[in-house]
Amino acid sequence: MENVDFLIVGGGISGTTAAETIRVQDPASRILIIEDENYPLYSRVKIPFYVKGERAREDIFLRDFKHYSDKNIEYLCGKKVVSLDPKNQFVKTEDGTGFHYGKLLLTTGGVPKKLNKYKNEHSLQTIEDADKVVEDVKKAKKGVIIGSGFIALEFVDIFSHYGLETHLCVSKEGFWANFLQKEVSDLICKLLKERGVKIYYGEDSPFVTDEDTIVGTGIGLDLSKSFFEGAGLNFDAGLVVDQTLKTDFDNVYASGDLAKFFSKKLDRYVRYGNWTNAAVSGKYAGFNMLSKNEVFDNLSAYSITHDKLSIVFLGFAGLDGSTEVKTKVISDRECIQYFIRRGKLDGCILVNRPQDRQNLQNVIESREEFAL
Ligand SMILES: Cc1cc2nc3c(=O)[nH]c(=O)nc-3n(C[C@H](O)[C@H](O)[C@H](O)COP(=O)(O)OP(=O)(O)OC[C@H]3O[C@@H](n4cnc5c(N)ncnc54)[C@H](O)[C@@H]3O)c2cc1C
Repeated sequence: MENVDFLIVGGGISGTTAAETIRVQDPASRILIIEDENYPLYSRVKIPFYVKGERAREDIFLRDFKHYSDKNIEYLCGKKVVSLDPKNQFVKTEDGTGFHYGKLLLTTGGVPKKLNKYKNEHSLQTIEDADKVVEDVKKAKKGVIIGSGFIALEFVDIFSHYGLETHLCVSKEGFWANFLQKEVSDLICKLLKERGVKIYYGEDSPFVTDEDTIVGTGIGLDLSKSFFEGAGLNFDAGLVVDQTLKTDFDNVYASGDLAKFFSKKLDRYVRYGNWTNAAVSGKYAGFNMLSKNEVFDNLSAYSITHDKLSIVFLGFAGLDGSTEVKTKVISDRECIQYFIRRGKLDGCILVNRPQDRQNLQNVIESREEFAL
């Protein structure tokens, strides 16, 4: 068994930022990142650009292996953590190696849900997924996308970019069926149809099994939690942490896509899946693992711009018993959906209104009364 001062499970942007933050503050401690994939840190955000041929594969990488050794951060990649015993401060990898830690950060993100139904089916989460899409998209004539979220939209853009006949199979209710109002979803679909995308609601495209079809799925992520199930951590659609990103165990922290943290600003628990949130929460987790006790409270923002369609998610976008949803249609190409709770704006979704982003962010942050 090995002893590590700071053990980080997951070497994405959040885990890497945490490790580097600790190293700056503490030059001597032993820091180890255990990462399931075989690569140094790369940008998931840039994956679509690589797939479209707009960025070289090597441009996706944000670190090389030498970087970790230069910083005296141990980087154990191609290894999966399979169990956690928080009472004894112990994790084990697939090959049976055990690690005793002083402080632990869990930052394992998620893996895409798969249909495993079609021959030429692709996800878009890792660089290896991207390599496979690059290889297969060039042989295809038709592209079928199954899903109704951001990754589905990335596939639409990729398949259109390669000139494929593009078919999008969304849920019966359309985009983000759990919380998007029908008129907003209808507008997004209308704008996609104008680009020549054929849309199917709640059914597969008849072309999905054709030999010359590539299938892209974007049906959500399963958070990577199997190795800590049963370990006594509080998981509720995210690994629940307090304002300092600490779990119910004193020396166990979580950050990035995995963490569901208490936002003081919004007075509610939130879990965000975006790059900035992952990086900034990683930084705070690093500080707080050094006992700095800094309050983390990032307001989420995720945006996508393809051709004539821009979508921005700001703050909390979701539905629960206490959240009211209202939509303002601005024109036949622009609208904003608002998420309001106790008279205050918690979040919004802007379709083709990027110019309102800063103003609405200020409104959310101000916590002033909000009326449409
Ligand atoms: C194609 C694509 C485009 C995107 N575009 C945008 C965008 O435009 N803007 C934006 O803000 N966000 C975007 N995102 C989302 C953003 O990339 C994520 O929110 C961010 O990468 C999350 O970082 P993370 O460090 O929390 O998790 P991850 O990047 O998921 O890293 C977690 C790591 O943990 C590892 N791991 C998991 N389980 C184990 C285990 N048991 N043992 C060891 N290692 C393990 C995984 O291999 C993984 O590398 C995009 C994502 C994708 C896939």
